[in-house]
Amino acid sequence: MDFSLTPEERQIRDTVRSFVEKEVMPLEPEVLRNERAGRPAVDPEVLRDLRAKARKSGFWGINTPEEYGGAALGPIMSAIIAMEIGRTFVPFSFGGSADNILYAGTDEQKQRYLIPTIEGERRSCFAITEPGAGSDARNIRTRATRDGSEWVLNGEKTFITGGSEADFVMVFAVAEPYGVTCFLVDRDMGWKSEPIPTMGEWGPAALVFQDVRVPEENILGELGKGFELAMAWIGQGRYMIPARAIGSAERMLGMAIDYAKIRKSMGQTISEYQAIQWMIADSQVEIEAAKWLTLYAAWRVSEGMDARHASSIAKLNGAVMANQVVDRVLQIHGGMGYTKELPIERWYRELRLLRIFEGTDEIQKRTIARNLIKGHARLGLIGE
Ligand SMILES: Cc1cc2nc3c(=O)[nH]c(=O)nc-3n(C[C@H](O)[C@H](O)[C@H](O)COP(=O)(O)OP(=O)(O)OC[C@H]3O[C@@H](n4cnc5c(N)ncnc54)[C@H](O)[C@@H]3O)c2cc1C
Repeated sequence: MDFSLTPEERQIRDTVRSFVEKEVMPLEPEVLRNERAGRPAVDPEVLRDLRAKARKSGFWGINTPEEYGGAALGPIMSAIIAMEIGRTFVPFSFGGSADNILYAGTDEQKQRYLIPTIEGERRSCFAITEPGAGSDARNIRTRATRDGSEWVLNGEKTFITGGSEADFVMVFAVAEPYGVTCFLVDRDMGWKSEPIPTMGEWGPAALVFQDVRVPEENILGELGKGFELAMAWIGQGRYMIPARAIGSAERMLGMAIDYAKIRKSMGQTISEYQAIQWMIADSQVEIEAAKWLTLYAAWRVSEGMDARHASSIAKLNGAVMANQVVDRVLQIHGGMGYTKELPIERWYRELRLLRIFEGTDEIQKRTIARNLIKGHARLGLIGE
């Protein structure tokens, strides 16, 4: 069993770390100022310039196949790069990627949706959740009715990330009598969005479809097979959620250690107290555990193995870990941790989402338990 990276992989990791430290982290004070004044976190032009700079150094389409101009570094390096980017709360990501579900499109759909999204010319959003169907995603009510060569969509989606900015949506609707089907729907076909304020900094949106007419050729995948399509593709990328959180947790733990070494109480630095040391130790143990569970899930994807069970474990563990670590880091900072002078409270609010979206903690536990009970996953086998 070899845990080492090749020299090239190490170089990529180090280059990303230095890019994040030199180019992205300096924006942090401005991001805090902007967000607290209700402005966009970073000027879109600044983000565009950063991405262009990164592209020049080859950081473009990290996990995008080479035939689409990507770097095709694979799931393990994608996870490692996400860990590095997660070290900052600046809403930055390298350009050149698209929701993986779009690779299921026809050649024509790839030209109209996938490639422009990779190139950053179009923005997408993924809409399955409805006011009456979250964890119970099979219960969606949005309807698609055939009318000649078109489908007419009616219904409402909620909590859709990027829904305010997207110019097309991958929306899941029940196409009678076939079942749940995914449609690619341009904004100018007539759907509307309304931002939803949340405790985090980037709000999702509610989407309304009222007699939205969509041509037959805009069905993504097969008629009636939308649910399986969504679950298969979401499952493939789920390890990226804990990956980013690992970077955030590590950076915050570093801040807590630095603070504990200088903050004095009752005649000594708080780093001398066992209560503080235990919080530091527990955090590092949990971060390391999350790291290896995440890399294992990414490895399964890279080997073409079924990664759904491993990804559920990694997502559940990573989300809980990040919330425990940020809570301890805030505690170690005392009253300062609770202020808006430091970014900890911001991370606290942002990381809380991880236990809810892309399958809540409870749904991941349900999946893990059911896999074991039904024999889809087995205990105690390493390497299979
Ligand atoms: C900021 C944000 C961004 C999001 N982005 C997107 C997006 O881009 N696209 C999209 O489609 N959706 C998105 N979502 C929706 C998200 O996936 C759902 O909120 C999530 O799946 C939970 O559904 P729900 O909110 O309806 O909660 P519910 O399903 O109503 O759950 C309520 C509680 O009951 C528990 N529960 C439910 N069923 C069970 C069960 N069978 N067993 C045990 N416990 C159960 C849940 O774990 C939870 O604790 C986003 C949500 C948020 C908050």
